Parts: sequence; C-alpha cells; structure tokens
Amino acid sequence: MEKININELTFEELEKFIEELGEKKFHARQIFKWIHREKVLDFDQMTDISKALREKLRERTYILELKVLECQVSKKDGTMKFLIELPDHNAIESVLMKYNHGNTICVSSQVGCKMGCKFCASTKEGFVRSLLASEIEGQLLTVERYSGEKISNIVYMGIGEPLDNYDNVIKSIRQINYPLGLNIGARHISLSTCGLVPNIYRLAEENIQCTLSISLHATTDKKRRETMPIANKYTIKEILDACKEYIRLTGRRISFEYALIYGQNDSREDALALAKLLRGMIAHVNLIPVNEIKNGIYKKAPEKNIENFMNTLNSCGVVTTVRRELGSDIDAACGQLRKKYIDKTDQFEGKKYTKSEE
Ligand code: SF4
Repeated sequence: MEKININELTFEELEKFIEELGEKKFHARQIFKWIHREKVLDFDQMTDISKALREKLRERTYILELKVLECQVSKKDGTMKFLIELPDHNAIESVLMKYNHGNTICVSSQVGCKMGCKFCASTKEGFVRSLLASEIEGQLLTVERYSGEKISNIVYMGIGEPLDNYDNVIKSIRQINYPLGLNIGARHISLSTCGLVPNIYRLAEENIQCTLSISLHATTDKKRRETMPIANKYTIKEILDACKEYIRLTGRRISFEYALIYGQNDSREDALALAKLLRGMIAHVNLIPVNEIKNGIYKKAPEKNIENFMNTLNSCGVVTTVRRELGSDIDAACGQLRKKYIDKTDQFEGKKYTKSEE
C-alpha cells in the first residue's frame, strides 16, 4: 500500500485517519502539533504517543521532508535565499527576509510558471507542476528548522502564480493558519497575483483575511501586454473591478505592485495614469526597482525616477512606498537561483529534474 504524506492531511482528515487506525481521535491533536508546530521529521520524536501508534503511523504514512540544496546569506542584511529540493528532485526557492517587525518568508507556489512575464526569471524554464499544500507549508517548516528563526509573515511571491494553483494555495493558507499548527494569522499572509480575474472573485468569497497584491506594472493594456502575456486575457479594468469586489467583501486594502522598468513605465505620465486608475480605491502602491536578470532586456529605473514616481503618486493621495531591496549581494531575484541550478544540473548531472516541454 502506498504511504500517505501525513503533512497533507487537514486536522479533520487526520482525526478520521487516526480513527481508521482503531485509535482514539484525540491523538490527532498531538500528532498535528508535532508535525506542523514542532516540525519533527521522525515519528519517534512524538514522545507523548504510544510506540504502537507510532509504528502504525510509520507503516501507513511518511513525514514530508524537503531538502535544502543551497542557502545563500546576504552579508548586507542577513536575507537568506534557499534552494529547496522537492521529493521528485525538482527545485524551488524560498527567501527569508528580516525586518524590524519580524521575519517574512517568500514562498514558491509552483515549479516554474506559465505566465511568461518578460522581466521574470521564474518563467524562463517554463512550467513543470504545481506544488501541494504540504510543499508550500513545508518551505516554512524547512526554513524555520534550518535557520532557527521564527517566521511571522508570509508572502506568496516566489516562483509560480499562486492563483493558478488555487486549491493547494488556499489549503496551505488554512494549514498555516490552523491554531494547532504554525498559527500564523491570515492578516500576516500576502498573496500576489498577476491578475487571474476569476480566481480573485473566488478568493474574495473564501472568508480569508489575507492581503491581496496585484502585480500591475503598467497603466494601459497595451503597455501591460508588452511585458505580461496575461494582459491578453484580462484587461486592467477587469482586474480593478475584481479588486473592488475583493475590497467590498473583505474590507481589506489591496496592494498594487509596480516594477519600475527604465524607459518603459517610469515616467511622470505613468505615475499620473496610475493615480487615476486607483482613484477612490482602498489601495497602496508598492514600487519595486525591477531586478535585472541574466540575459534580461529590462533595466532598473534610476533612483531619481523611482523617487519622482513615488512623490507624484503620494501627491495625488495614493499611499506609495518603495520596496527595500534586500539581498542585493545574493541571487535574490525570484527564479535566479533555480535557473542557475537547472543550468548546472543540465550540464553536469544530466536531467535530474523534470523540465517542461511547453
Ligand atoms: S512575475 Fe510571477 S506570474 Fe509573472 S512569470 Fe514571474 S512568477 Fe510567474
């Protein structure tokens, strides 16, 4: 019989499973805590459950273990970038960032990405597969275990489009949120999307108080289409309508991510157009100096343009901040470390991972 990945079970599913094993369901509380809070990797570490039950668990299940292949640490700010191996040998990235208000982890939701944004290294190798909820939560467990740091905030902004892996992402948020597990409040969780409109509406109905971030990056559909293929499917108006519904149902402010690309979207006219689009919305703009990727065609906007852009938006009443650049001395841009790994394993170890044919 194939063993079950026990990390993938919700608390209710675990209770049912324990009963199927002929045991009292209260053991599910102990086991859930051991796995999701104490982060144990061996059933024998579950010291308050009987040896017989531990044996039954070992026979029928396994604890998901993700392997750290590489960890780069920034000398400038302590940012830690992890290359993590999944059980099928695909690799993903997670980043631990240290802020005054606590530690934030940026997690991946897919192996590769289908969305094809031109400024992003994560999409260069195509799409392989979506992550399971346990593989998303597993990034937190692995990074906490490895670093000894406690994580208080999560951003779904790593490799992949979270709303393209909707069910697993929602399940992972609920698992991370669960009081017997990591117990991280939904308000400490941000989910970033390039604008999959139908799933923004779905998310609004989920009754999860997470922060929604929209990767907008342009103020007209024409300009957006130049860098983001998703703009061929959904217009900015359709995205903003979905955002308004999200705000109406959740009462949460939306964050708009805007990567400033030199000569592409960093003019005063762009800033004014953005302010006009967001007029009357509970919104916040987060300006991101675009990461220059290897063989990429886009250049980071100069400091002066970034400052002017921010000042223009703020003077129009749109709350705007510039994202602090963390880990600038390591491969911090999303997808870069994985890409290097793929190039290396391709060259030296053969095809160790599954590569998309798309
Ligand atoms: S920016 Fe996000 S959605 Fe776009 S290709 Fe990269 S990972 Fe995918």
